[in-house]
Amino acid sequence: MEFDEHLYDLTVIGGGPVGMFATFYASMRNLDTQLIESLPELGGQVAALYPEKVIHDVAGFVPAKGAELISNLKQQLFEFKDKLVIRCDEEVLELEKQPDETFVLKTSKRITHTRSVLVAIGSGAFAPRPLAVGYDHDLDNQKVFYFVKQVADFANKEIAIAGGGDAAIDWALTLEPVAKRVHLIHRRNKFRGLEASVDRLKASSVDLVTPYNIKQVIDGPDTGLNLNLQLAKSEEVRTLTVDSLLVNYGFTSDNHILKEWGLPLERRSLVVDENMETAISGIYGIGDAVTYPGKVKLISAGFGEAPTAINHLAEALYPERKQPLHSTSIA
Ligand SMILES: Cc1cc2nc3c(=O)[nH]c(=O)nc-3n(C[C@H](O)[C@H](O)[C@H](O)COP(=O)(O)OP(=O)(O)OC[C@H]3O[C@@H](n4cnc5c(N)ncnc54)[C@H](O)[C@@H]3O)c2cc1C
Repeated sequence: MEFDEHLYDLTVIGGGPVGMFATFYASMRNLDTQLIESLPELGGQVAALYPEKVIHDVAGFVPAKGAELISNLKQQLFEFKDKLVIRCDEEVLELEKQPDETFVLKTSKRITHTRSVLVAIGSGAFAPRPLAVGYDHDLDNQKVFYFVKQVADFANKEIAIAGGGDAAIDWALTLEPVAKRVHLIHRRNKFRGLEASVDRLKASSVDLVTPYNIKQVIDGPDTGLNLNLQLAKSEEVRTLTVDSLLVNYGFTSDNHILKEWGLPLERRSLVVDENMETAISGIYGIGDAVTYPGKVKLISAGFGEAPTAINHLAEALYPERKQPLHSTSIA
């Protein structure tokens, strides 16, 4: 476990759209900020659940796909890349206030210190939904994958992809040109993707293995990975031997951690006041994670909450600094 001795002004927990914008805004206010996100990629629900869906209701953003909104937010955030720290693939596990009013955070990778905290964890830490069958987890990231870090890792490999939604279809089409062969295993004959993607899939060389369920995943020393597949509503079993299995069954989320942090909740959401501050001074909350009278769980509502939280916490940290009226050029 690494011990990070630096004392940040602010730690933003959660790199969804709202946490990303808040981190950018905190940098505009010259706060020494770190952003911690449990997934390997920023973007929260938008990136993980609906990158291909068109978003119509974000101010100043002409209707475009979720992936484009996240790409714009990244571009905005990276304006300050030299000023802030972004840590992905790291989950905040414990949060404790110290007698000197600072906070100690324990993450899955380090212990870190901060003067204030902004909770932007949405409906909780996302984790990929695992394979429904037991298997040797030593195979994870060796032969069984839940994320694609680099397409090149799958070059010239025989790959099975499990799943029938947009993400599974996208990965099948993305890996098809680089892989030796891609097999897409789905328990139904019909895929749940955008019609245009399904059409491209059907026209591609991807081997559609439907309707099959994965029953066993067995490592073979020389033979790669053996997948025992059972035909739906039948006893028929076949074996598919591949180099790698990429599982795309969607994500689960869980925000039980808020309870462990001792923060007051209402219907599983964090209660905040008009400054977006929780009952523990120095801990603020925004986005889908929070509730207050009239709260709506929308991206634009979360974007509005970010400056409210950041400006009030900046004032608490640096009372001598004035509240800004509007943005000026970034030097
Ligand atoms: C299918 C679907 C369609 C939608 N369409 C729209 C739409 O068109 N318009 C609209 O305005 N809204 C839409 N929404 C709602 C919108 O996605 C949410 O309001 C928005 O994502 C909230 O952003 P957030 O940053 O608060 O939380 P999230 O997007 O949930 O991001 C939270 C992030 O925090 C991370 N995290 C959680 N716990 C931890 C931890 N302990 N440590 C580190 N990181 C952690 C998570 O991994 C996640 O990345 C839609 C939602 C869904 C599911």
